[in-house]
Amino acid sequence: MVATKTRKKSLEEYKKEFNPEFMRKAIELSRRASIIEKTGGVFGAVIVKDGKIISEGYNQVKKQNDPIWHAEMQAIREACKKLGTPHLEGCVLYTSAECCPMCLATAYWAHLDHIYYGATTADSLKYGDFADIDILDEIRKEPAERRLKFSQHMNPEAVEVWKEFSKMPDRARY
Ligand SMILES: [Zn+2]
Repeated sequence: MVATKTRKKSLEEYKKEFNPEFMRKAIELSRRASIIEKTGGVFGAVIVKDGKIISEGYNQVKKQNDPIWHAEMQAIREACKKLGTPHLEGCVLYTSAECCPMCLATAYWAHLDHIYYGATTADSLKYGDFADIDILDEIRKEPAERRLKFSQHMNPEAVEVWKEFSKMPDRARY
């Protein structure tokens, strides 16, 4: 569940608040990842709160052998650690390239206020063969038509834990 308590600003207001200095930093991190340190793809990101960068990330999928070490994931994780919360209301993400489906979903889970991006998924495909578009197409399909198939098993046993969880007054909320 995604919290919608905070009244967010309009798209125009966010556009007015865009700061090229932060996007330049994200782009610089994308260069570090892809060309200087060769840790992964052309992706860099920063999280900004109250006009200051509070965390940075750059793609390290290749260096760490970690398929989820995307720039945005690192920046979000470090911002949450720094602020001591899994939620980043009041924070915005600057990313050198449009988010992949995983990072976009994570931005929702993290309750980020806004995402500024530079290169598009079409640029990532054209210049780097990054197939985000392929994943987006898969998500739009009916589950039975997807390349990665789902099958359900042992529902009652799995739901037993959910039932216990739903009765806990101090359960985790997202
Ligand atoms: Zn991503």
